[in-house]
Amino acid sequence: MTTAVYPGSFDPITLGHYDIIKRGSQLFDHLIVAVVANPSKSPMFTVEERVELIKKSIAHLSNAREIEVCGFEGLLVDFMHEHKCKTILKGLRFVSDFEYEFQMALTNRRLDRKVETLFIPTDYKYSYLSSSIVKEVGSLNGDIAEMVPLEVLNDIKERINATKK
Ligand code: ADP
Repeated sequence: MTTAVYPGSFDPITLGHYDIIKRGSQLFDHLIVAVVANPSKSPMFTVEERVELIKKSIAHLSNAREIEVCGFEGLLVDFMHEHKCKTILKGLRFVSDFEYEFQMALTNRRLDRKVETLFIPTDYKYSYLSSSIVKEVGSLNGDIAEMVPLEVLNDIKERINATKK
């Protein structure tokens, strides 16, 4: 069975993330979406909330049962050992993403020679999109309907509005 881990902050999930989950899940028998609990960032959604938003967004996919969503803390290679997985999946938007992602790929390989990182280029429609853009546009009352999965649009809007007050 082939398994890959797709790690990220997903604070919150965007259509760019959703597209990578959907395409990635067609390449592997099992895809684990690993939501990073990064203590140095102050997220808008808790790890548990981010996990629930992703689960809600993918529930309708025909292969949803092959996609696992969970939170994690610590080193990604340790998480991968626990899940007996050797492949990291990442989405790439611009050259600017590449520099950091390449550094992380080399670091993870340095920590564990068996770990490989695979990159999927973003769909051009989502190349501008990030969680920060969603939060910024939403907090300025802009329309985020074409930026996040429809299933979680209201949840995300409500939280953005609540944090404005
Ligand atoms: P961000 O906060 O910038 O959205 P994340 O840490 O949540 O980033 O991203 C997790 C992974 O998803 C990374 O591999 C990132 O490159 C990828 N990703 C983020 N946004 C997109 C997008 N619009 N298209 C494709 N991949 C993306």
